[in-house]
Amino acid sequence: MRIDARRIALALLLACLPLHALAWGPTGHRIVATLAERELPATTRAALRPLLARSHARALADVATWADDLRDDARHRSLWRATSKLHFVNFADATCRYDARRDCAGGRCAVAAIDRYASVLGDRGRGVDERAEALRMLVHLVADVHQPLHAGYRHDSGGNRYQIRVDGNRGTNLHALWDTPVLGDRHEGWRARAADLAHTPLPAADGGAANWAEESCRATRDAGIYPSRRRVDAVYLARARPLAERRLRQAATRLAALLNHALAPHR
Ligand SMILES: [Zn+2]
Repeated sequence: MRIDARRIALALLLACLPLHALAWGPTGHRIVATLAERELPATTRAALRPLLARSHARALADVATWADDLRDDARHRSLWRATSKLHFVNFADATCRYDARRDCAGGRCAVAAIDRYASVLGDRGRGVDERAEALRMLVHLVADVHQPLHAGYRHDSGGNRYQIRVDGNRGTNLHALWDTPVLGDRHEGWRARAADLAHTPLPAADGGAANWAEESCRATRDAGIYPSRRRVDAVYLARARPLAERRLRQAATRLAALLNHALAPHR
């Protein structure tokens, strides 16, 4: 087999870069879940326990990728089909104003789904299995909607139809770059990453799902996410990292607030 020196150089470059900070693959989702769980008071943790047990899980991070895992699980094909559109919301244009009728027809987008699952989770009249599923979806979707390109523009499907080159070599699309499970599957670095981020100041647990989506859209517009000449290099990644980390942190704090609200003992 011929050794392709350029490929090896790129692989080394990618391995050395903090690419996992851009990943909302397994890594990003577990980071958000872990950070959120750290913020929860004992009462909320206690309310979560039986719901997590229903999923054979002990920690929120254990269920954080379930909604994506459905895609590759033949037993859940119909559930994946019914929920695949709930992982994102597309905006009509760069004004980034959410219009439920236009942007979320039939409630099939991340914004409406978050509201819906939060109310199922908080409804003690519902069965524990239904509430456990709502929890699994919620943990995942709150993180997704903070990934800027999960609430980007409809015209390029949130960057999915925007081709780029990484380091002038590998071709991919912009959404995949931000969504990729690079390192995430094999690498346990997410624990260390979550611990690092836990020491950064707590962001405000403000707004609701529509606001979070609008923020993502505005980041897509304003934060240089679309690389010049469609080229992504180490400089781009270094610049993108603080935004990616801020969005993970915000997602975690807001997820914690949402869980506290839904599972408050007085409800
Ligand atoms: Zn997802």
